[in-house]
Amino acid sequence: MTAIQHLKGVGPKRAELFGRLGIETLEELLFYFPRKWEDRRLGAKKEHFPYVEDAPVIRGRITKVRDLYTASGLRIFKVFLETAQGEAEASFFKRHNPRFDVFALLRKDLAPERTVWITGTPEDPLFLSRMRAEEYYADDDARALQLHVGRLVPVYPLTEGLTPRFMREAVFAAVTAGAAEVTDPLPPALAARRGLLARDLAVRAIHFPENAFELTAARRRFIYEELLLLALAWAIKRRQTRSARKEFSYEIKKSLLTPFREKLGFALTAAQAHAINEIFADMRAPAPMARLLEGDVGSGKTVVALSAMLLAAENGGQSVFAAPTEILAEQHFLTFERFLKGLDVRFALLTGRVTAARRKEILKKLEAGELDILIGTHSVLGPEVRFKSLRLAVIDEQHRFGVRQRAALRAKGDRADMLIMTATPIPRTLFLALYGDLDLSAIRELPPGRLPVRTTEATEEVAFNAAADEAAKGRQVYIVYPVIEETLAADMKSVKAEFERLKVIFKGLRLDMLHGRMPGALKKSAMENFAAGRTDILVATQVIEVGIDVPNAALMVINNAERFGLASLHQLRGRVGRGRWESRCLLVAHARTGDSAERLRAMVQCSNGFELSEKDAYIRGAGEILGVKQHGDMDLKIADMSRDGELLAQAMEDREALLAADPGLTRPENAGLRRRLRALYASRWDLIDLS
Ligand code: ADP
Ligand code: MG
Repeated sequence: MTAIQHLKGVGPKRAELFGRLGIETLEELLFYFPRKWEDRRLGAKKEHFPYVEDAPVIRGRITKVRDLYTASGLRIFKVFLETAQGEAEASFFKRHNPRFDVFALLRKDLAPERTVWITGTPEDPLFLSRMRAEEYYADDDARALQLHVGRLVPVYPLTEGLTPRFMREAVFAAVTAGAAEVTDPLPPALAARRGLLARDLAVRAIHFPENAFELTAARRRFIYEELLLLALAWAIKRRQTRSARKEFSYEIKKSLLTPFREKLGFALTAAQAHAINEIFADMRAPAPMARLLEGDVGSGKTVVALSAMLLAAENGGQSVFAAPTEILAEQHFLTFERFLKGLDVRFALLTGRVTAARRKEILKKLEAGELDILIGTHSVLGPEVRFKSLRLAVIDEQHRFGVRQRAALRAKGDRADMLIMTATPIPRTLFLALYGDLDLSAIRELPPGRLPVRTTEATEEVAFNAAADEAAKGRQVYIVYPVIEETLAADMKSVKAEFERLKVIFKGLRLDMLHGRMPGALKKSAMENFAAGRTDILVATQVIEVGIDVPNAALMVINNAERFGLASLHQLRGRVGRGRWESRCLLVAHARTGDSAERLRAMVQCSNGFELSEKDAYIRGAGEILGVKQHGDMDLKIADMSRDGELLAQAMEDREALLAADPGLTRPENAGLRRRLRALYASRWDLIDLS
């Protein structure tokens, strides 16, 4: 591997700048993919590809130049051109410097009669021929025409000190010097069957495509490669998990489970029972459980988790239940108190708010095996909390619980079983991609008697009237705003400002506020007061999005609804409709773009999370929630799983065939795959098979 420093034009100084971008070798530069491409062709018929941007560019003969001073000390160099399309002008801006002519170089390069190319941004979208200039090139500069204008031009994420022009030159030099040596990890037969561009051609084409179709082929090739490697890594990880053996076994003794069921006060839904069966089967199997339990908001996942924890307790094992926030951990603790009352099971809550003495006591009991269940935030999964025999970890509402965290948990829990719960149903392909090493249980049914939440768009006035009506009936109301405090940048209503206003509007009602930046004790009392019915209207941010369960709440008002993703809107709506009352969700939108209109329409039409999750707008939103692109475990450079579902499905299919024929990837034609897998995932995911 050649160090970047040896590339033509790159000395030690520039090498350091490249280092800041994570580029140290020629190969890394070759695989530093553009962020987007600009179409700088003149008069070409522009094809529409989402990653190709139509960039303004002028080519013309300079007729005159003007040098202007502004009162504020700015200087403007104006170039007037005659182009095939007519007159055009481009302006360069610089701060005046009394000691030298800041435009000396421009005056020389852009003298009248020369023919030049200028790129930039139009000063007014209606007059493309008048622009703020960025780059310029002489028409007889063959190199410029080869790389910088008159073609599709790559645009890279840069760092201060590296210009777009230099970056393109460097990449081009690397492509010219190194592309041929790029070995292809894909078995040739596979690449041929999927019609993928050879890797060396694809490297050239992804940086300097001749046209958008070639670019698409190059992108497709790298996206596929990235996804295939990921899919293979998942499979190897999964195989490794499966082949591990727990050092304990379970019996269904019913000493806790039976009284628990009897005291529940309701019958389990068929879907809950089914999920419990799947989980019990996993827990009794020799390999550790790694299962995701997916169920729409309000589908009753907690009871399922409790059943699993009681099975562990019956068999003398400890469990931990981790919630994403302290508020939720406290809520769950109250729920557990209700459900476990009178049962011979010991549980405790550990959050940042318990006193030091209590904390010490809990930790001591955990280590001595005197507690069966620990409830807390995700921090209880950290190393400072030690168990005598941790056998089951339940992770609630966690969207980004990655492979690495799972591995850390395994390490503390001597091959503990693991159940991850989420109320964000995700499409199957996305599930496989994000959690390819997990099994899936889905609760696709709500407990009987739930009335669907009626969702409509409304004006603020209608929404506030509805809130007053509900409060008069003794029901409770959530009013949600997108931000805590007003900012100059965005036109959004804030919890703090609106809370003051609402207190006046709803004089006589009991209002309270809840947002993430309040001190813990205040959050806690706000939640408790609302849960106990001592508050009529809770004015809140999205903090109430997950988990909160107050059956008497019958109205959800979401302000600036256009600002929320579909997945979030659906989560918020799930806070109501938990009791016997007909509940409503009112969406107050203050502005609308095409996308937000699509989301609001979907919300009004559809109340089922699984159905919503098949919608495009949801997938995009869920992608954000799930951090699909930046999912730290995967570090995808070019693939985006919320977009590339089709290629992912192909990669999954090919993975099955590859591993069926060659489980260890030891055949010569698979050596390249194995090498890439080792480099990318072996240590990060602790894949023993590969090292
Ligand atoms: P989620 O899946 O969103 O975490 P919860 O576990 O909080 O849902 O359950 C929502 C509400 O439904 C709770 O009040 C719970 O007690 C109740 N519940 C759960 N299962 C059933 C059932 N089978 N029948 C009736 N109510 C149920
Ligand atoms: Mg829940």
